[in-house]
Amino acid sequence: MRIAMIGTGYVGLVSGACFADFGHKVTCVDKDSSKIEGLDAGVMPIWEPGLEALVKANVERRRLSFTTDVTKGVENAEAVFIAVGTPARRGDGHADLTYVYEAVRELAKVIKPGTVVVTKSTVPVGTGDKIVAILNEEGAEGISVASNPEFLREGAAIRDFKIPDRIVVGAEDERAREVLREIYRPLFLNQAPILFTGRRTAELTKYAANAFLAVKISFINEIANLCEAVDADVQDVARGIGLDNRIGPKFLHAGPGYGGSCFPKDTLALLQTANEAGVEQQIVATVVKVNDERKDSMAARVERALGGVAGKRLGVLGLAFKPNTDDMRDAPSIPLVKGLVERGADVIAFDPVAREQAEKILTGIEYASDAYTAADGADAVVIVTEWDEFRALDLDTLAGRMRGKTLIDLRNVWDPVEAERAGLTYLGIGRGAPSA
Ligand code: NAD
Repeated sequence: MRIAMIGTGYVGLVSGACFADFGHKVTCVDKDSSKIEGLDAGVMPIWEPGLEALVKANVERRRLSFTTDVTKGVENAEAVFIAVGTPARRGDGHADLTYVYEAVRELAKVIKPGTVVVTKSTVPVGTGDKIVAILNEEGAEGISVASNPEFLREGAAIRDFKIPDRIVVGAEDERAREVLREIYRPLFLNQAPILFTGRRTAELTKYAANAFLAVKISFINEIANLCEAVDADVQDVARGIGLDNRIGPKFLHAGPGYGGSCFPKDTLALLQTANEAGVEQQIVATVVKVNDERKDSMAARVERALGGVAGKRLGVLGLAFKPNTDDMRDAPSIPLVKGLVERGADVIAFDPVAREQAEKILTGIEYASDAYTAADGADAVVIVTEWDEFRALDLDTLAGRMRGKTLIDLRNVWDPVEAERAGLTYLGIGRGAPSA
């Protein structure tokens, strides 16, 4: 199959490279010329494990190419995927579809009858219908429009794409179903379930999935608060409920609140859709509020734990919204670090890969080159992102380099007993009574 991918960000680049690896001929288009120049020179615009090698291998086999020119990218493509950003619109949280509609207008001028246009971007219910209307307006005829939401996770994106739990395809005609079945054929061989639905159902499925995961996270965070008040350990509660097949162990990790490029904006967009449809979504509305409050409360939590932070030196470990990515979008580290600086703390932060992204957002702090340097002379160290390397720290060395001896572990990566053995005062999340 010949595929064009409009938008070469996280989703577009990973999907494009994986489709090429399946054997399709893929052209990734982006209007950001510096991104395309970089990719042509082998420089990845994002940090994602395995991506550079995958891109390189498929460029060498001439199955993957990059361009800023939509006409060149789209001509002869049997399927054109749209993977541009759909950020939250300022003010009302509605998904901003400007980039999607702009891309559709551009490609409408150049696609040929029979092409299948597929939204991979997360778009609200009814967006496919609007795309059909725009294509008609622009005089593009005989085009199928389908929805194929993407469920990959940053940090494990290639694996998620190649071994997905499921593929959801929302289509209204047989041509679209046929083309998408052919594109994903290599995955059927691996027995990945493919679910064909109506287009609107597929669009909503993506929001429902993200909202449900956000509910799980906020649920365990509130249980963690209760654990702290009643001397129970949330790690054990999570394990105790997670072993129940009906609940499952994933997304039950108490922490500083969810961030990232998807959950915050997608929960808000779902609420907007519900609002427009006149249907209340009280659970999701509460989760948005609970999570915002949680992220905003972390600086005060650190302040309380230390009896004030003014003039104190605090080592912050991890800035990206989660491990294995340099993505800082809506990261819990942002309100935390800003809150600590506002309270007069001196922050010295370390993240294994997100420093460059973080420097654009978090100013007025120092950046360290490794975790131990961040701990040098610190009154306390705060773990904010659960990078594996923070699990492997030598706590005796860490404690030895600190001035104070408090370890605030907002991700529960450490065993309190081990931390205390290293002479540290340990404060985790929801660990009223650490497990025996
Ligand atoms: P991103 O911001 O990393 O990438 C979007 C890219 O689109 C940018 O490089 C931008 O320059 C380009 N672009 C915008 N308009 C264009 C146009 N008209 N022509 C060509 N290129 C254009 O975004 P992302 O994180 O990849 O997200 C893309 C979509 O996928 C969003 O809807 C998001 O919600 C969804 N999604 C993201 C993830 C994730 O983990 N990042 C996972 C699943 C779904």
